[in-house]
Amino acid sequence: MSAACALAEAGLHVRLVERRGYLGGRASSYLHPGVNEVIDNCQHVLFGCCTNLIGFYKRIGVADRIYWTSEMTMIEPGGRRSKLGPSGLGSWGLPAPLHGLPKLLSAHAFSLADKFALARAFTSLMRPVPAYSRETLGAWLRRHGQTQGAIERFWRLVIASALNADIDSIAMPYAAKVIRELFMNSAFAGSMGMSTVPLSELYLGATEFLYQHGSEVLLNSNVEATEWDEETSQWTLAGPNGPLVSDYLVLALPFEATAKLIPKMPPAEGTEELTAKIEQHEHWPICSVHLWFDREITELDHAVLLDREVHWLYNQSRLQTGRGGHYIELVVSATRAFAALPREEAIRQALAELAEFFPSVKQAKLEKAALVKEVRATFGVPPGIDASRPTAVSPWPNCFLAGDWTATGWPSTMESAARSGHLAAEALCLTLREPRTFLEPDLQPQGLMRFFC
Ligand SMILES: Cc1cc2nc3c(=O)[nH]c(=O)nc-3n(C[C@H](O)[C@H](O)[C@H](O)COP(=O)(O)OP(=O)(O)OC[C@H]3O[C@@H](n4cnc5c(N)ncnc54)[C@H](O)[C@@H]3O)c2cc1C
Repeated sequence: MSAACALAEAGLHVRLVERRGYLGGRASSYLHPGVNEVIDNCQHVLFGCCTNLIGFYKRIGVADRIYWTSEMTMIEPGGRRSKLGPSGLGSWGLPAPLHGLPKLLSAHAFSLADKFALARAFTSLMRPVPAYSRETLGAWLRRHGQTQGAIERFWRLVIASALNADIDSIAMPYAAKVIRELFMNSAFAGSMGMSTVPLSELYLGATEFLYQHGSEVLLNSNVEATEWDEETSQWTLAGPNGPLVSDYLVLALPFEATAKLIPKMPPAEGTEELTAKIEQHEHWPICSVHLWFDREITELDHAVLLDREVHWLYNQSRLQTGRGGHYIELVVSATRAFAALPREEAIRQALAELAEFFPSVKQAKLEKAALVKEVRATFGVPPGIDASRPTAVSPWPNCFLAGDWTATGWPSTMESAARSGHLAAEALCLTLREPRTFLEPDLQPQGLMRFFC
């Protein structure tokens, strides 16, 4: 969507071809038949540092549909709460990276030893970790004397949700990037954004934008094969609705869909290398449990739940405008064990855990529930993965690659997807000899962090 809208704005006639009946891919909403409600496949969170995603939302006119917050409530089993987020001294904000320090120091969730350990780690992370480092986050944490409490309640939690993998499977440069952006570079970089409407509704803005710019969206159109005509320099895509001819092609697919299409693409030098790169990627699951109660179980919009399988709570009835009812979504990241549970057991476990944080759950009646398992939610970022992330330039003529897994420097996120689209659009314009810039600049670190770029 970001490539299509950027190119349409540049004056190209774009056809956005989507296999499903709605836009959004792994970040979308649909009518769940089991509960007869439109739900997101999972709550998707963005941050202030997601400049390309925000740029894309601005382009399609939906940026005002994002609700922003800078405070995170952590809850321990039993209900004790701590807050994380920026704070100031009177009307003065503390300079980054100190803006988060007062709340961290007063958080009940961490012991004094945890706080010292975290402060030590943050001090060390003021200097960026070089991209070539092959260390895992787990090894780095052990080397920096992190306590069990700091690891379980901070590192696993933040990393599990942002990078969706186990700490021993994450390359340190990616972990450092996330921590620096979310907690150190500036208060705005780390503020959390959530859509106030179901995700596919958000993308109606993209559909409208494309039509307004003379472009099209073709839904329910699975691209099954492609042909390149050397004489006309044109691509023909084969799909269920007949052939589509085009001058340029942007393949914005997940890595496994790209791998599936490669044998149906014309032979080209570099195809084997691309296939070998794709084989290095692996998926991690995310599950979400959607619960409707007969009454409100918490006044919080969202919360981080500590020490249990369920990590995040999103109070969708409060977050999404016009939603009504008492709809709570729970998210379980980076655990293959939870993803393997049968539906009834997963919902029962999530409900039991929720009651440990909010005793009101025991009095409430569960009206309906849904479990969404996304087994192929995100790709992992183990050490060395950058060598297997291809650029937008593909082995085929006039064909460009996009998708969150391509070389954006970002982990598997909507920001990476938006960036990859902007990069592919730039590469295409370069081929047209009409260079354009679509990539949004990164946010500049603030306060003391300006001296540690
Ligand atoms: C459960 C879950 C939770 C997540 N949480 C977050 C979060 O909180 N924050 C965040 O930033 N990111 C999150 N992510 C990651 C984020 O959703 C992805 O990084 C992002 O959506 C990837 O976008 P993409 O365009 O690269 O790929 P996709 O979203 O996978 O889009 C690819 C599209 O190509 C289509 N397609 C595939 N094959 C064909 C074909 N042959 N012909 C036509 N169309 C085809 C697909 O249907 C799909 O629409 C989450 C992902 C999941 C699954």
